[in-house]
Amino acid sequence: MSQVYRSTRSAAEQAITFEEAIITGLAKDGGLFIPSEIPQAPKDFLQAWENLSFEELAFEIMRLYIADKEISDADLRQLIEKSYSTFRAKDVTPLVKIDSKDNLHLLELFHGPTYAFKDVALQFVGNLFEYFLQRKNASKKEGEQRDIITVVGATSGDTGSAAIYGLRNKKDVSVIIMYPTGRVSPLQEEQMTTVTDDNIHTFSVKGTFDDCQSLVKEVFADVKFNDTYHVGAVNSINWARILAQMTYYFYSYFQLKKQVGTSDFHVKYVVPSGNFGDILAGFFAKEMGLPVDKLVVATNENNILHRFINSGKYDKVPVKVTYSPAMDICVSSNFERFLWYMIKKTDGGNDDLKTGEIMSNFMAELSSTKGEFNVSQETVQAARELLDSASVTNEETVATIKETYDSTSNKYILDPHSAVGITTCLKQIDAAQDAPNTHYISLSTAHPAKFSEVVNLALGGFEGYSFENDVLPAELKQLSTMPKKIRLIEHADLKTIEDAIVEELAKEKKA
Ligand SMILES: *Cc1c(COP(=O)(O)O)cnc(C)c1O
Repeated sequence: MSQVYRSTRSAAEQAITFEEAIITGLAKDGGLFIPSEIPQAPKDFLQAWENLSFEELAFEIMRLYIADKEISDADLRQLIEKSYSTFRAKDVTPLVKIDSKDNLHLLELFHGPTYAFKDVALQFVGNLFEYFLQRKNASKKEGEQRDIITVVGATSGDTGSAAIYGLRNKKDVSVIIMYPTGRVSPLQEEQMTTVTDDNIHTFSVKGTFDDCQSLVKEVFADVKFNDTYHVGAVNSINWARILAQMTYYFYSYFQLKKQVGTSDFHVKYVVPSGNFGDILAGFFAKEMGLPVDKLVVATNENNILHRFINSGKYDKVPVKVTYSPAMDICVSSNFERFLWYMIKKTDGGNDDLKTGEIMSNFMAELSSTKGEFNVSQETVQAARELLDSASVTNEETVATIKETYDSTSNKYILDPHSAVGITTCLKQIDAAQDAPNTHYISLSTAHPAKFSEVVNLALGGFEGYSFENDVLPAELKQLSTMPKKIRLIEHADLKTIEDAIVEELAKEKKA
């Protein structure tokens, strides 16, 4: 097994170590890192892995993707233990029954510190960053410059807190998260700003989310600033995030097997998708050998993926604001990885270099004024063999939250992203010609407390419903009374931001 990584776009980068792929994030040619070979799960894994804990299973999977000369068995186990010790559920990601349909199961991914699925990946990524930095710095002499990373990111609300909780209190890592003043929900703002650790800095920026995002890009592009502060990102294209997410596909498969009490079943996974990171982990699990019938892409009205699967055309259109904001994207950054494998199987003629060339050309077309590319019929057909898709409206999202509450004996409350998944699932169950004993696992990506407006819109009319009592966990309730650390940025320009970053970092040092 090679356990090295290559870029999706060119020949230049093809023997990248796991550590380099994680720390640099993006290949120099603009491509994404993928494993040079997809490892296979051991022949007997359906038995051998069946009774492993979530952490043990994570170890077996990650071991296949990380050379042991890079991280030893003992260290990898420790990193995994530490990452999932912060979860509230013993199973980490429990599989629960939505009792309105016999074959519909919900995989709850929101039992981490910020109540969102991104914790599954970011808790691990934070520990991994710290591990690599500590190792580099261990050999440094007194007074020698230590290796550091300054993670700079922008958030429209939901993802910032998962990054902050993943990186809080990590040595040699500093975190700057910018969000638009007054445009994130009070709960989201509280989740970020009540983390008062020395290395965490939240900037409330007068402007829009786009302004924040442009500032982040400008900071990254400032070579001089970068040389000094080693600006890094933990965005959704980081390979470690995909890797960490593979565990729950395997784990839920075994949970389902126990629940149905036979190994004679079929399974489809339905995944609320934005940047295609979550479902991409399912693709790798399937390629490793997990017997999955189909992966179903559930999108909101930002449905570039759904359109692609129908037509083979990948075209940028302006982003719409929907009830499931964490899925409001105009292009899906991780889709490039999946597409690479589809091209390789077809027009790429199983040749890595040719596949990379085709990909580079597509991406150039996408970023040109044309703003789109078309793949061949063979390539889109290869994608269709693995993926189904649906696009879900705001009205359908609200209706599903209502119906689920109304039709389940425990009055189950979905968040709007998970409701996009369940809506897709219900469409599929009714329409698909499924093999007998087909089960659906629909991924639940956030706790409903994080999206109070939509949940209240859906459930406000039910007698006896109360957000405070039925939805909001005590842990989140108390945030409003806790001390906050926020820096207000009045002028959204590069100099102001960089000066503020330098000031914050200086405060942090040996405080
Ligand atoms: C990020 C996110 C998604 C989308 O996941 P991708 O990996 O970007 O496809 C869905 N739901 C919630 C709540 C999220 O935070």
